[in-house]
Amino acid sequence: MTRPRAGSSGNRRIKLLRLGDRDPSVAEIRAALISLSFLPAAPHQQEAPAAGRPRPSGTDLPHPAAPPGTGLPDGGPRSGTRAGAPDTPMPAAARFDAARELDAALEFDAALDRAVRAFQQSRGLSADGIVGPDTFRALEEARRKLGDRLLFYSVNHPFIGDDVASLQERLSNMGFDVGRTDGIFGPRTEAALRDFQYNRALEPDGRCGPLTLRELKKLERTVVGGRPDVLRESVRLLQRGPSLLGVVVAVDPGHGGNDPGVTVGDLCERDLIADLAARLEARLLASGLEAYLLHGPHESPDDVERAHRANEIGADLLVSLHLDAGKSPQAQGVSSYYFGNARGSSAVGERLATLVQKELVSRTDLVNCRTHAKTWELLRWTRMPAIRTDLGYLTNPHDAAALGSPEFRDTVAEAILAAVQRLFLPPDLDPPTGQLRVPTLASRRPR
Ligand SMILES: [Zn+2]
Repeated sequence: MTRPRAGSSGNRRIKLLRLGDRDPSVAEIRAALISLSFLPAAPHQQEAPAAGRPRPSGTDLPHPAAPPGTGLPDGGPRSGTRAGAPDTPMPAAARFDAARELDAALEFDAALDRAVRAFQQSRGLSADGIVGPDTFRALEEARRKLGDRLLFYSVNHPFIGDDVASLQERLSNMGFDVGRTDGIFGPRTEAALRDFQYNRALEPDGRCGPLTLRELKKLERTVVGGRPDVLRESVRLLQRGPSLLGVVVAVDPGHGGNDPGVTVGDLCERDLIADLAARLEARLLASGLEAYLLHGPHESPDDVERAHRANEIGADLLVSLHLDAGKSPQAQGVSSYYFGNARGSSAVGERLATLVQKELVSRTDLVNCRTHAKTWELLRWTRMPAIRTDLGYLTNPHDAAALGSPEFRDTVAEAILAAVQRLFLPPDLDPPTGQLRVPTLASRRPR
């Protein structure tokens, strides 16, 4: 099957922009954040609606790597001329002000830094103030408004953006099953849209054009949100009951091949994680689940490819394993991540992340750095509840010493297995944290 487009964050090396930088792309980032109301409009931009106006597809934000002067769309401060007066020469003082303003727009200043962080937080990205591929992608997507473009299912280049998310949200609120509100127009969104069109006596062509939009708008006020997508995800899981037979778990070793991840002294994230993944896989198999490693030791596919593989094998859950590194040796502990942003999150992903944290913290002395909702590509492109766990800091002497021990890695694998098992137990059978033992559960399985 063809791989879905990875937005702007493929494997291309791109420049990262942060506080103190000066770059034409900074003006673009500023314009985007102004149009999204994360920054107040500069005086000369207040009348210019360009930044917020629907843009035809194909005029995406320029890549930071693009040579200056190419692809700055209309509305960007470099386009200079004010609407309505292209031929009238500006008075010298005004020209001077405008030039100064343009110049200031190129500067990644403290206000922009704050706005970038706020934007990142609202989108479930790491709020580090650094504009890299993920943040650029999110800015592009955030500017899409429902109605800006015709939406339909395109196998090779799926539509991605907030317009798709709005469509999914509306369909879902009316009871149509779109899966997760992830902003990606996939086959399930198409099926839900056709269903909606059929219900409203429209041609069920799976394309969201003017007629469908009008119908959606008509119904807008009659529906009340109740996160039906979340309910559905939980129901699907409970229907399986406590039997783990046939549950497919994708295990993702976070690195591999010539991508070593974090390396400190003779400890290397890739190798430790490969060992952990193998231990986890063996335990999952031994307790009657199906387990697959998403890649072998000699490669490190990108996150979209990893997600794609998990979708292909029809995994019920995905567990991605990583280690962490900090600037300070004091940073330590374990944290887990699940798909989520301001629009909502994967309820089952969150539950699994919480169980993994609980089991790990109770069975080891790793510090609890809690669970966090993120929109990272791996969590987003996967169709099943997916989590990523960062199992301690290699830069911290305590965590590093623990991770270097095979017994410790065994305990970690056992803790993750227990969390996966607890996910399928109804509340009355759910044992206290740290006490689930594999044989107890295996004997409860129907044969
Ligand atoms: Zn890693």
